[in-house]
Amino acid sequence: MIPADLHRLFEAQHQASRIHVEVPLLVRRERLLRMRKMLDEHGTVLAAAVQADFGMRSPRLTEVADFFVLRNLLNQCLRKLARWMKPQRVRTPLYLLPARARIERQPLGVVGVISPWNYPVQLALAPAITALAAGNRVMLKPSELTPHTSAQLAALVAQFFAPDEFCVVQGDVNVATQFSGLPFDHLVFTGSTAVGRRVAQAAAAHLTPTTLELGGKSPCLIAQDCDMADAALKIAHGKLLNAGQTCIAPDYVLLPRGREQAFAQAYRAAVARLYPTIVGNPDYASILTKRHLARLRQMLRQAQSLGAHVEVMGPASSQPGEAAASLWSDAAERQMPPALVFGATSEMQLMQEEIFGPILPVITYERLDDVVAALNAGPRPLALYWFGSDENVRDGILRRTVSGGVSVNDTLMHIAHDNLPFGGVGDSGWGAYHGEQGFLRFSHQKSVLLQSRWSMGALFYPPYGPRLDRV
Ligand code: NAD
Repeated sequence: MIPADLHRLFEAQHQASRIHVEVPLLVRRERLLRMRKMLDEHGTVLAAAVQADFGMRSPRLTEVADFFVLRNLLNQCLRKLARWMKPQRVRTPLYLLPARARIERQPLGVVGVISPWNYPVQLALAPAITALAAGNRVMLKPSELTPHTSAQLAALVAQFFAPDEFCVVQGDVNVATQFSGLPFDHLVFTGSTAVGRRVAQAAAAHLTPTTLELGGKSPCLIAQDCDMADAALKIAHGKLLNAGQTCIAPDYVLLPRGREQAFAQAYRAAVARLYPTIVGNPDYASILTKRHLARLRQMLRQAQSLGAHVEVMGPASSQPGEAAASLWSDAAERQMPPALVFGATSEMQLMQEEIFGPILPVITYERLDDVVAALNAGPRPLALYWFGSDENVRDGILRRTVSGGVSVNDTLMHIAHDNLPFGGVGDSGWGAYHGEQGFLRFSHQKSVLLQSRWSMGALFYPPYGPRLDRV
């Protein structure tokens, strides 16, 4: 897309948002219903596009990880929108009586959305749905790394929405950079922390507020008293969904010293239960590109060369050595087998960067206090997972650590809860959306004071004589 087209699209949306400042409930509902129709009628085509982009990624996985979330969000918005839109009456302090006051929730105008490739439908449409519910116009720039999905999204959105309501801009990083420089009323970015910094800088030029949904290293903290089989199953599920290419995937495990074997055994059993086979199994997603696969392999090679021990998980039926060989062999669909890494250290790339693949370092600890200190010394993670049964210890960990969100005795699931805001903190992002929090994030909360002719406020008018001493 050439810059002139981009600016023309933005201008059309901007004009429309300034002419139709009030966006009634019926208009918003009708837009959401159109979105639902689009997904109902064309979900299969979109899921096929996602599969084409990944190589191997079952449409059922996309149904669970992308469409389920979107349908849920749409239903929640349709059910609750009338209540969310209602002005909120607030109490008025004595010194302003007899005034009344309320907070009105207004659309911001034009909301820009930049989305990543890992859940290319969910992460493109969820912010768009919430912004539309809040009465905004939306421009979406999906990832260039999922070209089939982005092209389908562009075609479907053009079929179901007027360009000044909701439109899709396709293009590479160059287009993305120009996109982030448009004077939006709000810009939502989901992607890496490094690019998030650039987006925040571009938005600052126009004082455009941003919501940054970024990544990071989300730890799984295992207590001595946890149920190991249950913890390993839930960690394997969270880690291996989409082959580890999930922003809140467990990035590494913190394990009490001496429990390594128990964890490895339980994890192996969990992997075998969830994925009886790896290569050719459509439930086990491909690593998106050769470049991403090479990066993951390089991380493992470096860890091995620095003394780490790598355990590769293969199908239950595989011979010793077979699984390890499959790690390096060039399978057509880039399905990388799950691997545990013992003895990882901070000098290894896999403990310095978000892994974003099916590699799980296991770090052992002796004292929980040391773990808390180490977590607080690093960047604040997007998620933290705690596995244990002592509620006092759990609450102590929750009080003494800061992360975007937490699931206790589970992984990922806090993201699926309708009434919990989802977002990061510090390096993992700022601003949360989902549900009413998202509606508020993409609305302007306007303070309105309704005064009568006589008011207590007149007590504060000059001249400031001794009268004020009594107030
Ligand atoms: P990325 O940062 O490389 O790209 C994301 C988007 O930014 C793409 O659409 C891309 O075109 C665009 N982009 C690239 N350079 C840009 C620039 N200079 N200016 C403006 N836009 C630019 O991320 P990715 O590889 O697509 O996704 C993986 C990352 O996203 C991981 O770090 C993951 O943790 C994170 N993520 C976060 C969440 C969340 O909700 N917090 C969800 C999914 C993924």
